[in-house]
Amino acid sequence: MSVLALARPELLSLKPYSSARMEAGRAAVMLNANESPYAPFEQDALGLNRYPDPQPAALLAALADDYGVSPSQLFVGRGSDEAIDLLVRAFCRAGEDGVLISPPTFGMYAVAAGVQGARVVAVPLDPARDFALDVDAILQAELEQPVKLVFVCAPNNPTGGDVPLAKVRDLALALQDRALVVVDEAYVEFAGRASATTLLDAHRNLAVLRTLSKAYGLAGARLGTLIASPEIIGLIRRIMAPYPLPTPCVAAAMSAFTDAARAARAAHLAQAKAERERLAEALAAHPAIRDVWPSAANFLVFRVDDAHAIWQQLLDRGVIVRDVSHYLGLAGCLRVSVGTPAENDRFLSGLS
Ligand code: PMP
Repeated sequence: MSVLALARPELLSLKPYSSARMEAGRAAVMLNANESPYAPFEQDALGLNRYPDPQPAALLAALADDYGVSPSQLFVGRGSDEAIDLLVRAFCRAGEDGVLISPPTFGMYAVAAGVQGARVVAVPLDPARDFALDVDAILQAELEQPVKLVFVCAPNNPTGGDVPLAKVRDLALALQDRALVVVDEAYVEFAGRASATTLLDAHRNLAVLRTLSKAYGLAGARLGTLIASPEIIGLIRRIMAPYPLPTPCVAAAMSAFTDAARAARAAHLAQAKAERERLAEALAAHPAIRDVWPSAANFLVFRVDDAHAIWQQLLDRGVIVRDVSHYLGLAGCLRVSVGTPAENDRFLSGLS
């Protein structure tokens, strides 16, 4: 069975919008897109008077190289947020289909489902096992309330715990022909393990989300990638916005693939991991901290007696952390991102 059998059938027959840049590439005289022939004042270096390529080949090639897949397996959007939204819209019929999430987890899965009118089936992470993913409970819930998408956030935001690839494989296998398993690897670079992209060839009902917003330091450029079989990517490209990627953002991203940028990124990544461990040890030894959870990402979650008071105390000292105490199972918890060593020192002294 093709994985497209899980998609909204009406989208498979929808005639997609055909943009000028998709119909014809570039030529000496371009009179097909109602653009201005003039560059904006003193800003002609990027060719901003022209619409961008919908999916720029050079960016796709660079990302495919980094992620170890082929360009036909990639859709690049405005952050992985956009890819999440498009996946929900492509697979879930409003009022009929649903998605499965494992809270406490990243909030956009439920928001995208809500916007689309898709049901949300929640199977909590196991608080007794450092918020581990409960595969058996997910499979049981899916039998009782079938869903189209199963979101797996690995490493998970906000708890920081990772999901072993063996569990992802088990899920994809058990849900074959039933649901698409979407592994959100926004933080995988900090986990130091192979990506779930290594399972794509064996499992057609698997999709992986990656982003340039975290380890690549490009949150402001808003670029995230969906990696899946060419048939899923083809479906998503049919419903994408005509020109999703602004030219300056693509130009900024291209500068991340030089040798010098790669070397700097590797150094920052090593420092982030070392600082994460230093912070984790300092938090574990701190008298005001009740719990701190192991993290495979670039943040840590910890529990205090009065989360709001500590949050305010840190703010008064110029340090903003995230209050995550309203998340399921995280009463009294705050989340701190790993900063530079100096920023982390300010955070630690702000706690005292
Ligand atoms: N997934 C997870 C788990 C995240 O934490 C975030 C951002 N906080 C995103 C996706 C979205 O990232 P972006 O849209 O910047 O790629």
